[in-house]
Amino acid sequence: MNTQQLIALMRRIAAKVEEEKAFLTELDNVIGDGDHGINLARGFGEVEKKLDTLADKEPGDVLKSVGMTLVSTVGGASGPLYGTGFMKLGAALKGKADIAVPDFLEGFQGAIEGIMQRGRSTKGEKTMLDAMIPAKQAIEDSWSGDHNAKAAFAAGVAAAKEGVEYTKTIAATKGRASYLGERSIGHQDPGATSFTMMLEIVGDAL
Ligand code: ADP
Ligand code: MG
Repeated sequence: MNTQQLIALMRRIAAKVEEEKAFLTELDNVIGDGDHGINLARGFGEVEKKLDTLADKEPGDVLKSVGMTLVSTVGGASGPLYGTGFMKLGAALKGKADIAVPDFLEGFQGAIEGIMQRGRSTKGEKTMLDAMIPAKQAIEDSWSGDHNAKAAFAAGVAAAKEGVEYTKTIAATKGRASYLGERSIGHQDPGATSFTMMLEIVGDAL
């Protein structure tokens, strides 16, 4: 994927976030403070405004800029966390004119570790990580089998969706949803849901 394709992809992600704003906010209403969709739509709206100025950058720098914009424009926890993720992904792609699957996987791992560090969180705490970690593993496993990017991302999306289902079965121990404790069981995590939506857009674009 080159810069032009990446920018087109980021526009589609921004459009999807805007489209799902009410749904994501509704999910956050149940176990959080009802702003996840609003937060992401604000952040990706700002990202969208900057994309035109990034056309001559390499993909890694586009992703870093996306991350910095999210960190600086989203007030909620998800802004700094997603922002860190995009910045780490971008850092792993330094000097590359195209994004290849192995570099993406390295960057994805860096993103997961960056989010874990910044959020002081790990898997099984009912967060975006519960979709990200299995998705990364599934993409890696599928890719190492037959080196088919389309199939690998389809496997990643399926694993992320299972991760969202899994978040329904556990209590939140991080973020605002943790204030509900056991009462958060039965409800899906907004961040795991928004991540899965974004990955689905990537899968469709391939
Ligand atoms: P806030 O919680 O500040 O209102 P958002 O509503 O935008 O921010 O985002 C909530 C989402 O952020 C959660 O659904 C969860 O996936 C994710 N999240 C919150 N805290 C953490 C954390 N410490 N580590 C990882 N993800 C987290
Ligand atoms: Mg919230």
